[in-house]
Amino acid sequence: MARTRNIWVLPEINGNGEEISQLSLGLLTESRYIAEKVGGTVTALVLGDQTPDYSRVFGQYEVSRAYIFQDPLLQNYSAEVYVESLLPRIQAEKPWLFLMGHTAIGRELAPRLAALLETGVISQCAKIELSQPEHPKFYRPVYGDQLFQEVIFQTDNTMLVTMDPQSLNVAPAARVGKVRALTIEPKLTAESLKTRHLEYLPADFQTVDVADADTVISAGMGAATDELLPLVEELAGLIEGAIGTTRPVVDGGKIPRERMIGQTGKVVSPEFYLALGISGATHHVGGIQDSGKIVAINRDPQAPIFQSSDVGITADLKDVLPVLIERIKRARDNGEIL
Ligand SMILES: Cc1cc2nc3c(=O)[nH]c(=O)nc-3n(C[C@H](O)[C@H](O)[C@H](O)COP(=O)(O)OP(=O)(O)OC[C@H]3O[C@@H](n4cnc5c(N)ncnc54)[C@H](O)[C@@H]3O)c2cc1C
Repeated sequence: MARTRNIWVLPEINGNGEEISQLSLGLLTESRYIAEKVGGTVTALVLGDQTPDYSRVFGQYEVSRAYIFQDPLLQNYSAEVYVESLLPRIQAEKPWLFLMGHTAIGRELAPRLAALLETGVISQCAKIELSQPEHPKFYRPVYGDQLFQEVIFQTDNTMLVTMDPQSLNVAPAARVGKVRALTIEPKLTAESLKTRHLEYLPADFQTVDVADADTVISAGMGAATDELLPLVEELAGLIEGAIGTTRPVVDGGKIPRERMIGQTGKVVSPEFYLALGISGATHHVGGIQDSGKIVAINRDPQAPIFQSSDVGITADLKDVLPVLIERIKRARDNGEIL
Protein backbone atom coordinates (compact mmCIF):
# COMPACT_ATOMS: atom_id res chain seq x y z
CA MET A 1 0.00 0.00 0.00
CA ALA A 2 1.33 3.44 -0.91
CA ARG A 3 2.45 5.45 2.09
CA THR A 4 0.51 8.62 2.90
CA ARG A 5 2.72 11.60 2.30
CA ASN A 6 2.36 13.57 5.50
CA ILE A 7 4.47 16.67 5.64
CA TRP A 8 5.29 18.03 9.06
CA VAL A 9 6.53 21.55 9.42
CA LEU A 10 8.01 23.43 12.36
CA PRO A 11 7.23 27.14 12.13
CA GLU A 12 9.28 29.31 14.47
CA ILE A 13 7.35 31.54 16.78
CA ASN A 14 9.20 34.74 17.70
CA GLY A 15 10.43 35.30 21.25
CA ASN A 16 7.27 37.18 22.28
CA GLY A 17 5.24 34.08 21.52
CA GLU A 18 2.84 35.87 19.22
CA GLU A 19 4.34 36.39 15.80
CA ILE A 20 5.12 33.76 13.22
CA SER A 21 8.31 34.75 11.42
CA GLN A 22 8.55 35.31 7.66
CA LEU A 23 10.76 32.23 7.53
CA SER A 24 7.95 30.18 9.03
CA LEU A 25 5.43 31.51 6.53
CA GLY A 26 7.95 30.51 3.85
CA LEU A 27 8.15 27.01 5.33
CA LEU A 28 4.35 26.76 5.40
CA THR A 29 4.25 27.88 1.76
CA GLU A 30 6.85 25.29 0.77
CA SER A 31 4.93 22.58 2.63
CA ARG A 32 1.75 23.61 0.82
CA TYR A 33 3.45 23.40 -2.59
CA ILE A 34 4.89 19.98 -1.77
CA ALA A 35 1.56 18.67 -0.47
CA GLU A 36 -0.16 19.82 -3.67
CA LYS A 37 2.45 18.10 -5.85
CA VAL A 38 2.55 14.78 -3.99
CA GLY A 39 -1.08 14.64 -2.86
CA GLY A 40 -0.07 14.92 0.80
CA THR A 41 -1.27 16.71 3.91
CA VAL A 42 0.45 19.31 6.06
CA THR A 43 0.74 19.17 9.85
CA ALA A 44 2.14 22.24 11.63
CA LEU A 45 3.84 21.88 14.99
CA VAL A 46 3.76 24.52 17.69
CA LEU A 47 5.63 24.15 20.96
CA GLY A 48 5.17 26.52 23.86
CA ASP A 49 3.85 27.33 27.27
CA GLN A 50 0.63 29.15 26.44
CA THR A 51 0.46 29.27 22.69
CA PRO A 52 -1.94 31.65 20.95
CA ASP A 53 -4.36 30.26 18.37
CA TYR A 54 -2.63 30.17 14.99
CA SER A 55 -5.50 28.42 13.18
CA ARG A 56 -6.22 31.36 10.93
CA VAL A 57 -2.59 31.70 9.81
CA PHE A 58 -2.26 27.95 9.29
CA GLY A 59 -5.57 27.88 7.40
CA GLN A 60 -4.12 30.36 4.89
CA TYR A 61 -1.42 27.83 4.04
CA GLU A 62 -3.70 24.80 3.77
CA VAL A 63 -2.40 23.20 6.94
CA SER A 64 -4.94 20.50 7.74
CA ARG A 65 -3.75 19.65 11.23
CA ALA A 66 -1.88 21.46 14.01
CA TYR A 67 -0.21 19.74 16.93
CA ILE A 68 0.09 22.15 19.83
CA PHE A 69 2.65 20.86 22.35
CA GLN A 70 2.01 22.62 25.64
CA ASP A 71 4.15 22.49 28.73
CA PRO A 72 5.64 25.11 31.09
CA LEU A 73 9.12 23.84 30.14
CA LEU A 74 8.45 24.69 26.49
CA GLN A 75 8.20 28.39 27.29
CA ASN A 76 11.65 28.92 25.75
CA TYR A 77 13.33 26.87 23.06
CA SER A 78 15.60 24.09 24.24
CA ALA A 79 16.70 21.21 22.02
CA GLU A 80 16.34 18.71 24.85
CA VAL A 81 12.68 19.36 25.61
CA TYR A 82 11.78 19.86 21.95
CA VAL A 83 13.23 16.46 21.12
CA GLU A 84 11.53 14.84 24.10
CA SER A 85 8.19 16.31 23.03
CA LEU A 86 8.43 15.56 19.32
CA LEU A 87 10.15 12.18 19.21
CA PRO A 88 7.29 9.94 20.42
CA ARG A 89 4.90 11.57 17.94
CA ILE A 90 7.26 11.19 15.03
CA GLN A 91 7.95 7.56 15.97
CA ALA A 92 4.21 6.86 16.23
CA GLU A 93 3.12 8.60 13.03
CA LYS A 94 6.23 8.38 10.84
CA PRO A 95 5.66 11.51 8.73
CA TRP A 96 7.01 11.26 5.20
CA LEU A 97 8.87 14.58 5.33
CA PHE A 98 9.70 16.96 8.18
CA LEU A 99 10.67 20.52 7.24
CA MET A 100 12.40 23.00 9.51
CA GLY A 101 14.21 26.26 8.84
CA HIS A 102 17.98 26.24 8.45
CA THR A 103 18.14 28.40 11.57
CA ALA A 104 19.82 28.11 14.96
CA ILE A 105 16.86 25.95 16.02
CA GLY A 106 16.64 23.78 12.90
CA ARG A 107 20.39 23.26 12.73
CA GLU A 108 20.42 21.99 16.31
CA LEU A 109 17.18 20.02 16.32
CA ALA A 110 17.32 18.17 13.00
CA PRO A 111 20.55 16.18 13.61
CA ARG A 112 19.43 15.22 17.13
CA LEU A 113 16.12 13.93 15.83
CA ALA A 114 17.80 12.21 12.88
CA ALA A 115 20.16 10.30 15.16
CA LEU A 116 17.30 9.09 17.33
CA LEU A 117 15.08 8.23 14.35
CA GLU A 118 17.91 6.53 12.43
CA THR A 119 17.40 8.70 9.43
CA GLY A 120 19.40 11.38 7.62
CA VAL A 121 19.24 15.17 7.45
CA ILE A 122 19.57 17.33 4.39
CA SER A 123 20.66 20.69 5.66
CA GLN A 124 20.36 24.09 4.00
CA CYS A 125 18.19 22.70 1.24
CA ALA A 126 17.57 25.27 -1.50
CA LYS A 127 15.23 23.26 -3.74
CA ILE A 128 13.18 20.08 -3.68
CA GLU A 129 12.53 18.36 -7.00
CA LEU A 130 9.37 16.26 -7.04
CA SER A 131 8.86 15.10 -10.62
CA GLN A 132 9.06 11.57 -9.20
CA PRO A 133 7.36 12.04 -5.83
CA GLU A 134 8.48 8.63 -4.58
CA HIS A 135 12.12 9.70 -5.06
CA PRO A 136 12.40 13.39 -4.18
CA LYS A 137 15.69 15.05 -5.00
CA PHE A 138 17.11 17.72 -2.72
CA TYR A 139 19.55 20.43 -3.75
CA ARG A 140 21.91 22.30 -1.43
CA PRO A 141 24.64 24.83 -2.17
CA VAL A 142 28.23 23.68 -1.66
CA TYR A 143 31.75 25.03 -2.24
CA GLY A 144 30.84 28.63 -1.38
CA ASP A 145 27.67 28.51 -3.49
CA GLN A 146 29.62 27.62 -6.63
CA LEU A 147 27.82 24.27 -7.08
CA PHE A 148 24.63 22.53 -6.03
CA GLN A 149 24.80 19.10 -4.51
CA GLU A 150 21.96 16.73 -5.49
CA VAL A 151 21.00 14.44 -2.62
CA ILE A 152 18.44 11.65 -2.15
CA PHE A 153 17.39 9.73 0.94
CA GLN A 154 18.16 6.02 1.07
CA THR A 155 15.76 5.21 3.88
CA ASP A 156 12.03 4.81 4.34
CA ASN A 157 12.24 6.67 7.64
CA THR A 158 11.12 10.27 7.92
CA MET A 159 13.12 12.61 5.69
CA LEU A 160 14.43 15.52 7.79
CA VAL A 161 15.24 18.69 5.89
CA THR A 162 16.31 22.17 7.00
CA MET A 163 15.34 24.71 4.36
CA ASP A 164 17.57 27.63 3.39
CA PRO A 165 15.53 30.73 4.36
CA GLN A 166 16.67 32.48 1.17
CA SER A 167 15.03 29.84 -0.99
CA LEU A 168 11.57 30.33 0.51
CA ASN A 169 8.71 32.47 -0.77
CA VAL A 170 5.64 33.49 1.13
CA ALA A 171 2.40 32.76 -0.75
CA PRO A 172 -0.81 32.13 1.17
CA ALA A 173 -3.62 30.22 -0.54
CA ALA A 174 -6.62 32.05 -1.99
CA ARG A 175 -9.00 30.60 0.60
CA VAL A 176 -8.60 30.00 4.32
CA GLY A 177 -8.96 26.29 5.03
CA LYS A 178 -10.07 24.53 8.19
CA VAL A 179 -7.40 23.37 10.62
CA ARG A 180 -7.88 20.56 13.13
CA ALA A 181 -5.89 21.47 16.24
CA LEU A 182 -4.86 18.88 18.81
CA THR A 183 -3.27 19.91 22.09
CA ILE A 184 -0.59 17.56 23.39
CA GLU A 185 0.84 17.77 26.91
CA PRO A 186 4.23 16.05 26.89
CA LYS A 187 4.55 16.24 30.74
CA LEU A 188 8.19 17.23 30.76
CA THR A 189 10.26 17.22 33.92
CA ALA A 190 13.08 19.57 34.86
CA GLU A 191 15.52 16.63 34.58
CA SER A 192 15.00 16.76 30.81
CA LEU A 193 16.80 20.09 30.70
CA LYS A 194 20.57 19.96 30.49
CA THR A 195 20.76 23.67 29.76
CA ARG A 196 18.71 26.56 31.12
CA HIS A 197 17.39 29.63 29.34
CA LEU A 198 18.36 32.82 31.19
CA GLU A 199 17.10 35.74 29.09
CA TYR A 200 16.65 37.14 25.61
CA LEU A 201 19.08 39.97 24.83
CA PRO A 202 18.52 42.57 22.09
CA ALA A 203 20.61 41.88 18.99
CA ASP A 204 23.90 43.75 18.74
CA PHE A 205 23.90 45.88 15.59
CA GLN A 206 27.41 44.66 14.85
CA THR A 207 26.43 41.01 14.94
CA VAL A 208 22.76 41.19 13.95
CA ASP A 209 21.84 39.40 10.75
CA VAL A 210 21.92 42.00 7.94
CA ALA A 211 18.55 40.66 6.83
CA ASP A 212 17.06 41.87 10.14
CA ALA A 213 18.92 45.18 10.54
CA ASP A 214 17.18 48.58 10.43
CA THR A 215 20.32 50.29 9.13
CA VAL A 216 22.75 48.64 6.72
CA ILE A 217 26.05 50.10 5.58
CA SER A 218 27.43 48.14 2.67
CA ALA A 219 31.03 48.26 1.58
CA GLY A 220 31.65 47.33 -2.06
CA MET A 221 35.01 46.94 -3.80
CA GLY A 222 35.47 50.73 -3.70
CA ALA A 223 35.14 50.80 0.12
CA ALA A 224 36.45 47.46 1.38
CA THR A 225 40.10 48.45 1.06
CA ASP A 226 42.71 48.37 3.83
CA GLU A 227 42.56 52.15 3.97
CA LEU A 228 38.77 52.62 3.90
CA LEU A 229 37.30 49.56 5.64
CA PRO A 230 38.26 50.77 9.16
CA LEU A 231 36.47 54.05 8.39
CA VAL A 232 33.39 52.17 7.16
CA GLU A 233 33.39 50.20 10.42
CA GLU A 234 33.75 53.38 12.45
CA LEU A 235 30.84 54.96 10.60
CA ALA A 236 28.73 51.83 11.11
CA GLY A 237 29.49 52.00 14.83
CA LEU A 238 28.47 55.66 15.01
CA ILE A 239 25.10 55.19 13.34
CA GLU A 240 24.54 51.67 14.68
CA GLY A 241 24.39 50.07 11.26
CA ALA A 242 25.05 46.46 10.34
CA ILE A 243 27.79 45.95 7.77
CA GLY A 244 26.78 44.46 4.45
CA THR A 245 28.80 43.85 1.33
CA THR A 246 29.01 42.60 -2.25
CA ARG A 247 30.14 39.30 -3.69
CA PRO A 248 33.66 40.22 -4.88
CA VAL A 249 34.47 41.60 -1.42
CA VAL A 250 33.39 38.28 0.11
CA ASP A 251 35.35 36.34 -2.50
CA GLY A 252 38.40 38.42 -1.56
CA GLY A 253 37.96 37.40 2.09
CA LYS A 254 37.55 40.93 3.44
CA ILE A 255 34.05 40.52 4.92
CA PRO A 256 32.38 37.20 5.86
CA ARG A 257 29.92 35.53 3.48
CA GLU A 258 26.91 35.89 5.79
CA ARG A 259 27.09 39.67 5.19
CA MET A 260 26.77 39.35 1.40
CA ILE A 261 23.70 41.03 -0.05
CA GLY A 262 22.09 40.30 -3.39
CA GLN A 263 20.59 37.58 -5.52
CA THR A 264 22.92 34.90 -4.20
CA GLY A 265 23.36 36.66 -0.87
CA LYS A 266 20.81 37.99 1.57
CA VAL A 267 17.77 40.07 0.75
CA VAL A 268 17.63 43.06 3.08
CA SER A 269 14.88 45.55 3.88
CA PRO A 270 16.35 48.14 6.28
CA GLU A 271 14.91 51.60 6.78
CA PHE A 272 18.24 53.04 5.62
CA TYR A 273 20.72 51.46 3.19
CA LEU A 274 24.05 53.17 2.56
CA ALA A 275 25.93 51.83 -0.47
CA LEU A 276 29.62 52.75 -0.33
CA GLY A 277 31.78 52.08 -3.40
CA ILE A 278 29.25 49.72 -4.95
CA SER A 279 28.74 49.76 -8.71
CA GLY A 280 25.12 48.59 -8.54
CA ALA A 281 25.12 45.34 -10.53
CA THR A 282 21.65 43.79 -10.83
CA HIS A 283 22.90 40.82 -8.83
CA HIS A 284 23.42 43.16 -5.87
CA VAL A 285 20.56 45.59 -6.36
CA GLY A 286 18.11 42.65 -6.46
CA GLY A 287 18.76 42.23 -2.73
CA ILE A 288 18.19 45.84 -1.60
CA GLN A 289 15.03 46.92 -3.37
CA ASP A 290 12.82 46.62 -0.29
CA SER A 291 14.97 49.14 1.60
CA GLY A 292 13.32 52.35 2.83
CA LYS A 293 15.87 54.98 1.79
CA ILE A 294 18.89 54.12 -0.33
CA VAL A 295 21.86 56.49 -0.33
CA ALA A 296 24.85 55.72 -2.55
CA ILE A 297 28.33 57.21 -2.60
CA ASN A 298 30.46 56.43 -5.66
CA ARG A 299 33.18 58.36 -7.44
CA ASP A 300 31.86 57.33 -10.87
CA PRO A 301 28.89 59.53 -11.86
CA GLN A 302 27.79 56.81 -14.33
CA ALA A 303 27.65 54.05 -11.69
CA PRO A 304 24.37 52.14 -12.09
CA ILE A 305 23.78 52.21 -8.30
CA PHE A 306 22.60 55.81 -8.68
CA GLN A 307 19.59 54.58 -10.68
CA SER A 308 18.45 52.58 -7.68
CA SER A 309 19.16 55.26 -5.06
CA ASP A 310 17.00 57.92 -3.46
CA VAL A 311 20.09 60.05 -2.88
CA GLY A 312 23.29 59.74 -4.90
CA ILE A 313 26.59 61.42 -4.00
CA THR A 314 29.38 61.49 -6.57
CA ALA A 315 32.54 61.66 -4.51
CA ASP A 316 35.68 59.80 -3.57
CA LEU A 317 35.19 57.91 -0.30
CA LYS A 318 38.73 58.84 0.72
CA ASP A 319 37.52 62.46 0.92
CA VAL A 320 33.99 61.85 2.16
CA LEU A 321 34.32 59.24 4.91
CA PRO A 322 36.68 61.16 7.24
CA VAL A 323 34.54 64.30 6.93
CA LEU A 324 31.28 62.38 7.46
CA ILE A 325 32.62 60.68 10.57
CA GLU A 326 33.94 63.96 11.94
CA ARG A 327 30.61 65.74 11.33
CA ILE A 328 28.58 62.99 13.02
CA LYS A 329 30.92 63.03 16.03
CA ARG A 330 30.70 66.80 16.30
CA ALA A 331 26.91 66.82 15.96
CA ARG A 332 26.72 64.21 18.71
CA ASP A 333 29.05 66.15 20.99
CA ASN A 334 26.89 69.26 20.45
CA GLY A 335 23.74 67.30 21.29
CA GLU A 336 22.34 67.88 17.79
CA ILE A 337 21.81 64.13 17.33
CA LEU A 338 21.60 61.33 19.86
C1 LIG B 1 25.70 34.34 -10.82
C2 LIG B 1 26.16 35.58 -10.11
C3 LIG B 1 25.60 35.91 -8.91
C4 LIG B 1 26.01 37.05 -8.22
N1 LIG B 1 25.44 37.35 -7.01
C5 LIG B 1 25.82 38.48 -6.39
C6 LIG B 1 25.21 38.86 -5.15
O1 LIG B 1 24.36 38.17 -4.58
N2 LIG B 1 25.60 40.01 -4.57
C7 LIG B 1 26.55 40.83 -5.12
O2 LIG B 1 26.86 41.87 -4.55
N3 LIG B 1 27.14 40.48 -6.29
C8 LIG B 1 26.80 39.34 -6.92
N4 LIG B 1 27.42 39.01 -8.08
C9 LIG B 1 28.50 39.88 -8.57
C10 LIG B 1 27.95 41.12 -9.28
O3 LIG B 1 27.64 40.81 -10.61
C11 LIG B 1 28.96 42.26 -9.24
O4 LIG B 1 30.18 41.82 -9.78
C12 LIG B 1 29.20 42.81 -7.83
O5 LIG B 1 27.99 43.15 -7.19
C13 LIG B 1 30.09 44.06 -7.91
O6 LIG B 1 30.55 44.37 -6.63
P1 LIG B 1 31.06 45.83 -6.28
O7 LIG B 1 30.01 46.81 -6.64
O8 LIG B 1 31.53 45.80 -4.87
O9 LIG B 1 32.37 45.97 -7.16
P2 LIG B 1 32.63 46.74 -8.51
O10 LIG B 1 31.68 46.38 -9.56
O11 LIG B 1 34.09 46.57 -8.78
O12 LIG B 1 32.38 48.28 -8.14
C14 LIG B 1 33.16 49.05 -7.30
C15 LIG B 1 32.61 50.46 -7.34
O13 LIG B 1 33.33 51.26 -6.41
C16 LIG B 1 33.54 52.54 -6.97
N5 LIG B 1 34.74 53.08 -6.30
C17 LIG B 1 36.01 52.59 -6.35
N6 LIG B 1 36.81 53.30 -5.55
C18 LIG B 1 36.04 54.27 -4.99
C19 LIG B 1 36.30 55.32 -4.09
N7 LIG B 1 37.52 55.54 -3.57
N8 LIG B 1 35.27 56.15 -3.74
C20 LIG B 1 34.05 55.97 -4.27
N9 LIG B 1 33.74 54.97 -5.12
C21 LIG B 1 34.73 54.13 -5.47
C22 LIG B 1 33.74 52.30 -8.44
O14 LIG B 1 33.42 53.46 -9.17
C23 LIG B 1 32.77 51.14 -8.71
O15 LIG B 1 31.50 51.62 -9.14
C24 LIG B 1 27.03 37.88 -8.78
C25 LIG B 1 27.58 37.55 -10.01
C26 LIG B 1 27.16 36.41 -10.65
C27 LIG B 1 27.78 36.07 -11.99
